[in-house]
Amino acid sequence: MTDDQRPKQATILVIDDDRIALDLIMLTFNATATVLTALNSENGLEIAVNEQPDLILLDTLIQDVDGHEICSQLKSMPETENIPVIILSNSNQIEDELAALDKGAIDFITKPIEAPILKARAANHLFQKRDRDQLKLMSSIDALTEVANRRRFDEFLHLEWRRAIRSKYPISLLMIDIDYFKSYNDTYGHQKGDECLRAVAGEIKHHLRRPSDMVARYGGEEFSVILPETPSYSASSLAKRIWSGIGNLNIEHTGSARVGHLTISIGAATTIPDENQSISQFIEISDKNLYKSKSEGRNRITA
Ligand code: GH3
Ligand code: MG
Ligand code: MG
Repeated sequence: MTDDQRPKQATILVIDDDRIALDLIMLTFNATATVLTALNSENGLEIAVNEQPDLILLDTLIQDVDGHEICSQLKSMPETENIPVIILSNSNQIEDELAALDKGAIDFITKPIEAPILKARAANHLFQKRDRDQLKLMSSIDALTEVANRRRFDEFLHLEWRRAIRSKYPISLLMIDIDYFKSYNDTYGHQKGDECLRAVAGEIKHHLRRPSDMVARYGGEEFSVILPETPSYSASSLAKRIWSGIGNLNIEHTGSARVGHLTISIGAATTIPDENQSISQFIEISDKNLYKSKSEGRNRITA
């Protein structure tokens, strides 16, 4: 088996300032999972957001911070709300267990930790998490073009928008619409139209270079590209590559004004977002630029 074929090892984050517990947990998952550790809540939250672990083991008291509150925070952020949390508690009181479950923890284990029990429970939660992730992946893909669908677009843009506010890095967006596509369907038929949508989606994807760049089918014959941490000049040069890439596919389209092959129009937008700006305003800018490309004759980019 090559590294690519091996199922990805699960990542477990332990937020605990108790060295003995940490050592035991490290030993327990030694060969079966990647274990990340945080000795305080701030560090724990940061790792949870950035590393997206598959499971979090959370102590109830970390350097005077109440673990249940950390659990609430994890459950309230879109970046971490779907990561299962197991509370590790020094108490076996019913009220503590209820409090943990009430804050959204999936399970509760009392210390001292029994390694085989921890391992078995973690395995169950990891198994269910993998199933949920798989379902989520399937429900985020557009069946025809196999790129992200609109639902995934909204979710991903929301996450990247929040990240851009925190990091103060620019985020860019491209709105791409196929020109005269109604007439393409009318001339060549709906089947050919579908093939054409797949070819366009594939060509856009081909030009994306970073793992964080994402193309989605925004609507019928409209695609959108989200470019995190990307300034406007980089977004423009990518838009040019996509635009000429589609032209070079040389898909015959006799109904397309003058050029005779399939073309696209693009509208781009870039911003360094802050709390006062909204995502819908941002989308509107790229939409307006797309409209400008259309009204000035199509087959062009407006940034
Ligand atoms: P413009 O240059 O202004 O964008 O004109 P247009 O004809 O491309 O735009 P319009 O919005 O009038 O038509 C979009 C067409 O896209 C109409 C619709 O039949 C087609 N379309 C949308 N979804 C699909 C699909 O899944 N498959 C196929 N084959 N066609 C689709
Ligand atoms: Mg169109
Ligand atoms: Mg359209």
